[in-house]
Amino acid sequence: MQKQLTAVPDKAGHFGPYGGMYVPETLMAPLQELAKEYECARRDKRFRDEVDYYLREFVGRPTPLYFAERMTQELGGAKIYLKREDLLHTGAHKINNTIGQILLAKRMGKKRIIAETGAGQHGVATAAVAARFGMECVVYMGAVDMERQALNVFRMRLMGTDVRAVKAGQQTLKEAISEAMRDWVTNVRSTHYILGSVLGAHPYPMMVRDFQSVTGREARRQILEQEERLPDLLVACVGGGSNSIGLFHAFLGDKGVRMMGVEGGGRGIKPGDHAARFQKGGSLGVLQGTRTYVLQDHDGQIMLTHSVSAGLDYAAIGPEHSYLRDQKRIEYSFATDTEALEAFQFCSRVEGIIPALESAHAVAWVMKHAKKLGKKSLVIVNMSGRGDKDVTQVAEMLKL
Ligand SMILES: *Cc1c(COP(=O)(O)O)cnc(C)c1O
Repeated sequence: MQKQLTAVPDKAGHFGPYGGMYVPETLMAPLQELAKEYECARRDKRFRDEVDYYLREFVGRPTPLYFAERMTQELGGAKIYLKREDLLHTGAHKINNTIGQILLAKRMGKKRIIAETGAGQHGVATAAVAARFGMECVVYMGAVDMERQALNVFRMRLMGTDVRAVKAGQQTLKEAISEAMRDWVTNVRSTHYILGSVLGAHPYPMMVRDFQSVTGREARRQILEQEERLPDLLVACVGGGSNSIGLFHAFLGDKGVRMMGVEGGGRGIKPGDHAARFQKGGSLGVLQGTRTYVLQDHDGQIMLTHSVSAGLDYAAIGPEHSYLRDQKRIEYSFATDTEALEAFQFCSRVEGIIPALESAHAVAWVMKHAKKLGKKSLVIVNMSGRGDKDVTQVAEMLKL
C-alpha cells in the first residue's frame, strides 16, 4: 500500500481522480511530446549525470541539514532540523526544477524559454538558467506583481530576460500562467515552457516533482547519518506544492514518518481572505490544465485569494497533494499571515536565518506544535527560500 503511493501518476498523468491534461486541443500534441521526451531523458544516465553536475556546480547542492539548536531550545520540545534550500543559487528551491527543465529543453533542441512568475522567484531561477545556456527567455508577470517585486524584475532583466507585464484580471500569477500558455500554443516548435510548480497539465506535476525530489533524497541520507534514524515528522509550506513534495517524496514509503503541509491561511479562513485549498472554500475543480482542489464558489468561479506571501497565493494545489491527502499520507494545516510574520522574526532572531515568508509558514506551524510533539521527536522543516526578497515588505508591515 505505502509502496503504491510512489507509483503515480499513470501514463496519462492521473493521480487517482486528480491531475490529467485539461488543455485546448492545440496543446495536447506538445504536451504528449514533452511527456515522451521526458520519459526518455529520465531513463538516460547521461542526462541524469548532467543534471547532477549542474545541481552540484551551479546550483550549490547538497544543501546542509542544519540542527536548529536555539530554535529547539526556545520551543522546548521536538528536536528541529532545517533543510537549507535557502542557500541555493538565486535563493530558493525553484532552481532545482529550472535546471532540470532547461537541460531537457536543450536535449529537445529548443532555443527559446518562457515562464510565468508570481513573486518573481521562479522567474529569477528561470532567467539564471536561460542566461547560463544562452537561450532567449521571456517571463510573463502580472503588472501588480511587477510593481510589488520590482527588484526581482530588475534581476531578471540583468540576466537578459524579457519580462512582459500581464494586465488581465487580478494582474497576478493566474493571469501570467494563462498568458504563458497562449505564447506556448503559438511558438511551440521553438519554445519550451518552464512551469514553476507541481501544477498544470501532465507531465508537469510529475516532472517538477522528480526534479525537486533531490531535496528529500538528500535529507533522508543526512538524517540517517546525523541521527542514525528517520525523522518523526516533515514540515513544509505548500503553494503549488513543489518544495513540500520535493522533501516528502523520498519518505513516502517510510511508514513512521509523518508529513505536514502548511498552506497560506491569510487573514483567516473566510472567502477571499486565504489561500488554503484544503480548508473551507476549496473543492474539486479544474484550473489551468489540471483537476484538483481549487478555491471556488458554488458556480465554479475562481475565488479571490490572499496570503502575505506571494508564493503561497494561488487558487489551486498540485494534484498529487489532493491524492496523498485522500490516502491520508500527508496531513495539511495552515498558518495565518500574523503567525507567519511572527515566525519570520523568531527564526531570524534565534537562528540568524531570515526565512522566506513562504517558509515562515512552516516555521509557524512548528512554533505552535513543537512542545506537544515532545523532546524525543525529530522534525525536519524545509527552509524553501531566504527572506531577502521579503524584508522591505515586512519592514512596512511592522512599521519599522
Ligand atoms: C515559490 C515558493 C514557494 C511556493 O511554491 P511551492 O511550489 O509550493 O514550493 C515556497 N517557498 C518559496 C521560497 C518559494 O519561492
